[in-house]
Parts: sequence; structure tokens; C-alpha cells
Amino acid sequence: MTTTATTLRRSNDRKVTNAVTAGAGVKIANAFGLPSGKRYSCPGATSVCEEKCYAGNLENMRPAVRSLVLGNLEALQAAGTVDAMADLLQAMVDAFRKDCDNATRKGWTIKRAFRIHWDGDFFSTDYAMAWARVIAATPDVHFWVYTRSFTGTVDVMPIFDAMADRSNLSFYLSADRDNVTAAVAARKVYPWARWAWLAQTFADGLAEMPASDVKRYACPENAGRIELITPKGSACIRCGICPDARGDVIFSIGKR
Ligand code: SF4
Repeated sequence: MTTTATTLRRSNDRKVTNAVTAGAGVKIANAFGLPSGKRYSCPGATSVCEEKCYAGNLENMRPAVRSLVLGNLEALQAAGTVDAMADLLQAMVDAFRKDCDNATRKGWTIKRAFRIHWDGDFFSTDYAMAWARVIAATPDVHFWVYTRSFTGTVDVMPIFDAMADRSNLSFYLSADRDNVTAAVAARKVYPWARWAWLAQTFADGLAEMPASDVKRYACPENAGRIELITPKGSACIRCGICPDARGDVIFSIGKR
């Protein structure tokens, strides 16, 4: 008999962690994941992202990772309502904040940054609504998220658009040549979102990514210009482009 977990589990993602040990290990887990793919939590998956889903590959390689993210999805599905899902998410974010406070008391300089979905996506509008409530209720934590759930069966954009204050949320539309039409339509209606553009090469990304009024960057970690993690911090916290929504970002499948 399997028992559905009643708490959500955070992940130690080396690329995004907000606190790194002297030996370049992860000190605070600041990422949340769900199982990837259309079968699980990614209703907006495209053929381009399915071809090279690094998070999905990690699930396949590591049964413990698959078990953790599956447990998170089962817990949320068992919770069912927006209120119950928000309670689970809030408890997880509160535990993250407590870890940050403990580290701060020990003299660490901590940015309270939390990555929603290092793996997976918004699988339903109710689930997105639960996150919107938690983000609104937690102004002392900065969240960042990338999503393809802006087209097809699940469109989360109206939910985040309706938030009175998005100042603690950096929001990226994950897009590629397969969902470009829907992505352009979404960005037109929701100009506060940014591109996270996936292409075969950075040059392809530059050519494919529609123009916008913000600066465009090639992800420096993906391009091999900065390390995944060092004793000074993880790539994303040192870089800051996505957590701070500084501009549109291109990711290359071929890393060239
Ligand atoms: S652009 Fe910077 S913040 Fe965004 S994914 Fe790459 S390293 Fe992380």
C-alpha cells in the first residue's frame, strides 16, 4: 500500500541554490520540482523541449529524483483544492525561509530566492492559483519561474496577470519555434513576462526569438562562460539575469 505524502519536498539544485557551502555544495534547497512531460505536469510541452529535457533525463537517471518529484505531484493532486494546495506550498516556502533565517543568523549573506519548477510545470490552473496565493502572501521571498503552460489545455497567464503585486516574481515564457505563435500572442497581452527561448544554437535563438523592448542574453552558464556552482554561489544567483528578470534569455540545446 502506498501512502500519499502530506508535505512537499524541496530539491537541491546546484545551478540555482541561494546558499553554497565552502566546498561548493548546496546549503539550502531552494527549488521545487514536479515530474516532467505531458503525461505528468507539462501540458504545454513542445517537441523541441521534449527532445532535450535535462530535468526529465535526470529523473530517468536517478530513481530517487523521480520518486521525490512524483511524491510532490501526488501530494498536490491528493490535496485537490486551491486552498489545500496553497497550504502545502506555503508550508514548504516557510521551511525555506526558516533555513534562510538560520543561515543569516550564522553570518551568511543570503538572497531569499526560490526557483519554482526546476523540473515540471503548472499542471492546472488551480495549482497555478495556489502558487499565486503563496507568492502574494510571501513578499519577503523572491520567486522565479519559467512556463510553457500558456497555451493549450492550461493557460496560467490570467492568474498571474490578476495579481495585485508581482514585484517578488520573475516570470518567463518558455518558448521555441514550436510554440512561437502562442508565445507571441501571450507576450502581447502580458508584456510583463520575459522570453526563455530554447533553440538548437545561440545563433538560431537570436534569429528565432521575436523582438522585444528588453535586453537579450545568452545564458552564460549554458554557454560555458560561468561555472554551474562555485564557493561564491550558484550560477543563477551569481548571474542574476533570470531571478531579477533582467531581460530575455536564450538557451541552446547544442551549447554553441
Ligand atoms: S541566464 Fe543566468 S540566471 Fe538565467 S538560467 Fe542562465 S545562469 Fe541562470
